[in-house]
Amino acid sequence: MSAEFTPTDWLDREDQTLAPYAMRTRQSKGRKHPEPTHPFRTLYQRDRDRIVHSTAFRRLMHKTQVLVNQPGDYHRTRLTHTLEVTQIARTIARALGLNEDLTEAVALLHDLGHPPFGHAGEAALDECMRDFGGYEHNRHGLRLVELLEYRYPDFPGLNLSWEVLQAQAMHSKRPDAPEVKGYLQVGQPLLEAQIVDAVDSLAYDCHDVDDALSVGLITPEQLAETPFWNRAVERVRAEHRSIQADQLQPTVIRKLIDWQVVDLLETMHRNLLLAKIRTVEDVRRCQELLVAPSAEVKSLKAGLEAFLHANVYRHWRVMRMACKGQQILRQMFAEFCQHPQTLPTRYQRRAESGVLQQTVCDYLAGMTDRFAQDEYLRLFQPTSLA
Ligand code: MG
Repeated sequence: MSAEFTPTDWLDREDQTLAPYAMRTRQSKGRKHPEPTHPFRTLYQRDRDRIVHSTAFRRLMHKTQVLVNQPGDYHRTRLTHTLEVTQIARTIARALGLNEDLTEAVALLHDLGHPPFGHAGEAALDECMRDFGGYEHNRHGLRLVELLEYRYPDFPGLNLSWEVLQAQAMHSKRPDAPEVKGYLQVGQPLLEAQIVDAVDSLAYDCHDVDDALSVGLITPEQLAETPFWNRAVERVRAEHRSIQADQLQPTVIRKLIDWQVVDLLETMHRNLLLAKIRTVEDVRRCQELLVAPSAEVKSLKAGLEAFLHANVYRHWRVMRMACKGQQILRQMFAEFCQHPQTLPTRYQRRAESGVLQQTVCDYLAGMTDRFAQDEYLRLFQPTSLA
């Protein structure tokens, strides 16, 4: 603890510098297990630090975004996607005087609960867990930070602040789930959480196009059928008449991101004025979400997403890896449920005191892509006895 710094300094600074509709620590519902206030880190800075230091966060490095084990290894993973979302969301939060620390914590957390093999892995685990509450990455993210991380002597999980947990719970597709319900009684998400949601989708649309081009799943000629891409190319060519082929792709991607960020900021700014939003309570009570793209960008974005669904997410190379990943998870789920004695000791102990299927699901969901592939071989390959 420091004698030079006192929490009042940063609490006052939040009050002096943040916009009136920004979330402040003084308004927070706090943590489930009360802790002393830190002398120089804000409530949400501390949440951010706990997330970054968690085991689950480090594993994002080797979890699939869309592409598993493609040649080159320069495409996005869950970790780099998370960092892109965080960086863009902070830019927007800062421009509007919102709580940047809270935005950062929510963004760093948003994909923590993803299993190996992306959405294909999620669907496989959901099916395995059909009779035991199902599986969804948003709820699993909550489970990780409320229960499964075991780094602190005084409480399970990371003991994050209520607002960060709530932002995570609000992403859930199953609002009736018991672990989510308690967070949904307060109206709309905070602006900081709404920003992360909008930026998540903006970021993956852009980087999925970038990655798919880079690994050759699609060509620029195919993309020419989407108006969003075409108009971004036109804008780039108008600004850089003699641009070289090597710089065109990254420059167009940058243009697509910048276009959407500016649009989001301007639309949000207009929405705040129109709805006369002055406080956090106004945000909570508002009928509509306040962070959304303009009608024009929404429609251009929908066109790009339709293209991605048809040409990237269902590309045979992506599908092949997705199916293989699902089989790996399904077979390991069945094997561990049938022979729990083959689980690592810590999970065996948990299985004995809880629901076996949930424990197996937690073990599988925590795996990185490559650990799942190796573990599969260790379990089923006759020559592997490890
Ligand atoms: Mg995401």
